Amino acid sequence: MSKSKVYFTDLRTSPSLNLLKKMERIVTLAGMESIDFKKQFVAIKIHFGEPGNLAFIRPNYAARMANMIRSLGGKPFLTDSNTLYSGGRSNAVDHIRSAMENGFNPISAQCDIIIADGLKGTDCREIPINGKYCKAPKIGVAVADADIIISMNHFKGHEQTGFGGALKNLGMGCASVAGKLELHSASKPVIDEENCTGCNVCVKHCRHDAILLNANRKAEIDYDRCVGCGQCVALCQHSAAVLGEDDTSERLNYKIAEYTKAVLKDKPHFHVSFIMNVSPECDCWNHNDAALVPDIGIAASFDPVALDKACADMVISAPVLPNNRITDTHPHEHLEGCDKFRLIHPDTEWKKGLEYAEKIGLGMQEYELVPLLVHNK
Ligand code: SF4
Ligand code: SF4
Repeated sequence: MSKSKVYFTDLRTSPSLNLLKKMERIVTLAGMESIDFKKQFVAIKIHFGEPGNLAFIRPNYAARMANMIRSLGGKPFLTDSNTLYSGGRSNAVDHIRSAMENGFNPISAQCDIIIADGLKGTDCREIPINGKYCKAPKIGVAVADADIIISMNHFKGHEQTGFGGALKNLGMGCASVAGKLELHSASKPVIDEENCTGCNVCVKHCRHDAILLNANRKAEIDYDRCVGCGQCVALCQHSAAVLGEDDTSERLNYKIAEYTKAVLKDKPHFHVSFIMNVSPECDCWNHNDAALVPDIGIAASFDPVALDKACADMVISAPVLPNNRITDTHPHEHLEGCDKFRLIHPDTEWKKGLEYAEKIGLGMQEYELVPLLVHNK
């Protein structure tokens, strides 16, 4: 079987070829235009960045992508789904506001936002894939309804998965709140009694009659009835219905691969990753610690597995910048060729995640890196 092609450009520019044009060139070179976009709803999956984090992809790139898709006859929209934890993106109102704050407004991003899983993260559709870990991932409706998926991924480290790239952006990022619960948790939700106000919202909305208010007017889950749908976590506005015990990194990566399979099922798709501001952790944090390696470039592919592997390999090959999370513990070492993700997150298992993604048919790890040769015209 031939290798998957990953198209790559470095970040050198000239007056006639800026980074937006270079992104457009590799996307074109990679063949995105072969997708029939005419009159199709196109979900551009992107992370808008938690307020305070400045490592997310600039809206200018999203604008260029949206304009490319419109020129090919498609109807693009920018999308992400709500978070499980409280913060600036846990419901659609706050999420859109946070996105605007980070520049994803109709002027800068030239595209509208639809939060995939709706106002409170409960708008989801189960997409059957008969996965080993997740039989029918719970995907945000706007993504499930989209005809074409384009992912724009900020490639960086991640505290739970090792790195965050295309698979993480798609699999975790398109999961509804209930989906995120399934991804993260090895168990069903729990109630933090201190936070519970007894508002009864979870009781009213649990479709399985699995929650009651006890004599102290605190929510209590009947685990014989609870199916782990996550609705109570999505609806509780007091951080009282929360995740149970976290799953392992290995299983989290397996589940993310299965969720990605559901997101992309039966749909044309294409992926672009930005290996810039390679911060140690997810853009879901309200800060981004110093980059680990110098900015590397932009890569694009039809194959999200090959794309993630190529980006990981480039970060591994790169030298380490001074004064960051790696140099805190490895101050005088030459670390070109070292697995930076394992250095900073030793409990993570990104390699096993890619192996599993390949095994379930999402793509292949073997790739051919095709460079954009011209950078000065
Ligand atoms: S929705 Fe939250 S605060 Fe309200 S009763 Fe349920 S757990 Fe308690
Ligand atoms: S996870 Fe679902 S089934 Fe379980 S208590 Fe919460 S709403 Fe009910």
